[in-house]
Amino acid sequence: MDDSYKHQGLRKLLIESIRTKGIKDANVLSAMEKVPRHIFFDSSFLNFAYEDKPFPIGAGQTISQPYTVAFQTELLQVRSGDRILEIGTGSGYQACILAEMGAKVFTIERQRSLFDKAVKVLPTLGYTIKTFYGDGYKGLPAFAPFDKILVTAGAPFIPDPLIKQLKTGGILVIPVGASDIQIMTTITKTGENQYQKREHGTFRFVPLLGNKAMD
Ligand code: SAM
Repeated sequence: MDDSYKHQGLRKLLIESIRTKGIKDANVLSAMEKVPRHIFFDSSFLNFAYEDKPFPIGAGQTISQPYTVAFQTELLQVRSGDRILEIGTGSGYQACILAEMGAKVFTIERQRSLFDKAVKVLPTLGYTIKTFYGDGYKGLPAFAPFDKILVTAGAPFIPDPLIKQLKTGGILVIPVGASDIQIMTTITKTGENQYQKREHGTFRFVPLLGNKAMD
């Protein structure tokens, strides 16, 4: 699928609107200006790709609102070379933003149909992203520790394995809440068993699925 001048122009406008909503990290904005969000949409819905809104991607899931992607990515304080674990691959868009910023990205998806689709799309964009079909509650112990961990679904609690798989100095970004509204939370691992928790306002995510039989 082409990245036409029209799409590039719409993307510029979208990024400008995200900047005016308060996102300051120039690396986040620049990555979001480069990654074509419309590639993650079915051809009949291309017109929705550059609105600052979430959009259905099938299996009852959504590609997150661009502002939310920017907000979570800014909180991660991404550095080139960071090993980052994402829970909730979904469309693969967020993983591409992290890869575009120079991170080594590992991403886990729980729903087979979305996983299969992401595995096909990501290489066409030229990013090397390690994709896993599995349960994000468990993290990815075989590849730990990570500099950063990003959860892109609403978690009823902070899963212990994710905290354990964080390097000292590392940051976990996770929307926490049992209802359909969550509090964006960061956990910074300040020492072997020391953590600093901060809250950053409310957001609305689809829930992190637990106890779901693997399909
Ligand atoms: N980051 C995605 C993107 O860029 O399109 C959007 C993520 S969507 C809001 C949340 C995703 O988390 C869905 O694809 C959902 O299937 C996935 N998910 C839910 N529970 C999960 C779990 N336990 N482990 C891994 N992925 C999970």
